Amino acid sequence: MAAYQLSVQGLKVLLLEAGRDYDPVTETPMFQTPKDAPLRGSGDANKPFGFYDATVDGGWRVPGEPFTTAPGTQFSWWRARMLGGRTNHWGRISLRMGPYDFKPKSRDGLGEDWPLTYEQLAPYYDKTEMLIGVYGGDDDLENTPRSSPGVLQPPPAARTYELLAKHACDGMKIPVIPAHRAVLTRPQDANRLPQKLHPGNALAQRVLKKSMSERMACFYATDCGRGCSIKANFQSTTVLLPPAMYTGNVTLITDAMVREVTVDAQGKASGVHYVDKVTRADHHVTAKVVVLAASACETARIMLNSKSSLFPNGIANGSGLVGKYLMDTVGAGISAQIPKLEGLPPINEDGTAGIHMYMPWWLYGDQKAGKMNFARGYHIEFGGGRGMPGPGIFGGLETYTQGAYGKKFKEEARRYYGSFMYFDGRGEMIPNEDSYCELDPTAVDQWGIPVLRFHWKWSDHETNQALHMVNTFKDIVTQMGGTVQGTVPTDGARAIATGGSIIHEVGTVRMGSDPKKSVLNEFGQAWEVKNLFVTDGASFVSNADKNPTLSILALAWRSCDHLVEELKRGAL
Ligand SMILES: Cc1cc2nc3c(=O)[nH]c(=O)nc-3n(C[C@H](O)[C@H](O)[C@H](O)COP(=O)(O)OP(=O)(O)OC[C@H]3O[C@@H](n4cnc5c(N)ncnc54)[C@H](O)[C@@H]3O)c2cc1C
Ligand code: SF4
Repeated sequence: MAAYQLSVQGLKVLLLEAGRDYDPVTETPMFQTPKDAPLRGSGDANKPFGFYDATVDGGWRVPGEPFTTAPGTQFSWWRARMLGGRTNHWGRISLRMGPYDFKPKSRDGLGEDWPLTYEQLAPYYDKTEMLIGVYGGDDDLENTPRSSPGVLQPPPAARTYELLAKHACDGMKIPVIPAHRAVLTRPQDANRLPQKLHPGNALAQRVLKKSMSERMACFYATDCGRGCSIKANFQSTTVLLPPAMYTGNVTLITDAMVREVTVDAQGKASGVHYVDKVTRADHHVTAKVVVLAASACETARIMLNSKSSLFPNGIANGSGLVGKYLMDTVGAGISAQIPKLEGLPPINEDGTAGIHMYMPWWLYGDQKAGKMNFARGYHIEFGGGRGMPGPGIFGGLETYTQGAYGKKFKEEARRYYGSFMYFDGRGEMIPNEDSYCELDPTAVDQWGIPVLRFHWKWSDHETNQALHMVNTFKDIVTQMGGTVQGTVPTDGARAIATGGSIIHEVGTVRMGSDPKKSVLNEFGQAWEVKNLFVTDGASFVSNADKNPTLSILALAWRSCDHLVEELKRGAL
């Protein structure tokens, strides 16, 4: 987002990317069926989610680039080493944070407030949703804000299992509403939107019109996790990088592993050192302004590694807070079998692959009244249906088919296909002193760069919330006439997913209104180094239940507007 915003505003941008060049238009396996995949599509070290997953050179482990965990800590860290990062295959669920989410401490005394309000970010949410293309409904529920009229793409129709779950939830007073996801259900209006998004900026309008014209709407045939060669879903590589490159203002260097931000004698950022991963040579490039957006933990790592006489603990780290207050999303889930969904006629449920409906948090009143044993909410993502069957889809069916084989087994497979569902909770984690990353004192990666060591602890708020999630899912499944597969945990500490495993890690370089309690101001600008900006999830003060990426993008746009203003008035 930063490369796009800065280049369309006329700045010269050098974009350094640690991963390899990647072009979804030519590289996405859009139309292959499971039988075309080697090894039946199974995952390997480079493709942990299977052959068709869009990630290359990354996953739970990056060869030659380890991280460590403190004794007793369990933490998972997903990284993508490719142009566009994890946006090439993310779930594209794009929920706005609400007014409460920006002021959590003011509401219940826990955590910290953001230095800005929902109302200040709302115009950037609108603009980001129009730019990348987000579908959704116009529901306006408590702390689940609606977008301005005309901003969202129309939501896709609900699927059978989604309607059945809604029916059950209606009886339990749990709202089920259209999901918001970054997928085009209609072509973007390439004549109207560029003017609306960049009034008075002819360059931005020209490049955006061209790139929007190159995007098609979803044609309901494939799986978004593979990436989208027709550019219908949002990936940085198909939506933000093309217009940025069309400006002629961006120089892109891939396989460039940034290791350190350098400073001049006055304590301003002067550039960065990076390792050319092909030649293994070290380079230094200079810059008037340095913007870090390497993902929350990598950004903290670069800052901690940027030691100098002026900043012995890492650049802009006088507060000692770089790496601190690391958060992930609280996750817990169950799967279930629903007899009412057996034997339904074949139908295409592929397309805008991902959730069409979801349940936003609904118990704000009970929490306020002190009736709950955890402070913050969660939303529910649920799935199932009859998309194109993936490899191994019928594994484990013998529990239901009871020894059937041959023709009878095929009939049973058709009967049961589409009758399985999953329910996943995605909840807010409150930042705590015990969850953070720091430089490991001895371990380095294959480039000789010190690696991160993680510390992690859930509080009772999160484990109690996870238990509430699985019990709620069990009740929904019962209401639907179904059966939970396996046992429902009775202990929140067993129900909760490992820290980092929901892949929503944020925090580590947080913003705030007090330089003693934060590293960045409300624009992602370092308090101590005014020409250093952070535009990824590192700046998050709290981690609301809403998936973070839409907020990362909206905050990045706001940061870039501020950066350009500051440059214009000679303040950087
Ligand atoms: C399977 C999956 C599903 C997800 N689903 C959702 C979802 O539905 N909704 C949601 O909001 N979020 C989702 N996420 C999270 C989402 O992908 C991230 O929030 C988002 O991609 C963060 O963007 P980022 O630019 O900060 O980091 P990344 O996307 O990780 O990009 C960071 C980039 O920086 C590069 N880099 C790293 N270190 C260096 C270095 N030292 N020098 C140079 N370059 C470097 C990386 O190679 C990468 O290209 C999901 C993630 C995964 C993996
Ligand atoms: S489902 Fe639609 S948006 Fe997703 S990859 Fe396929 S065509 Fe693209």
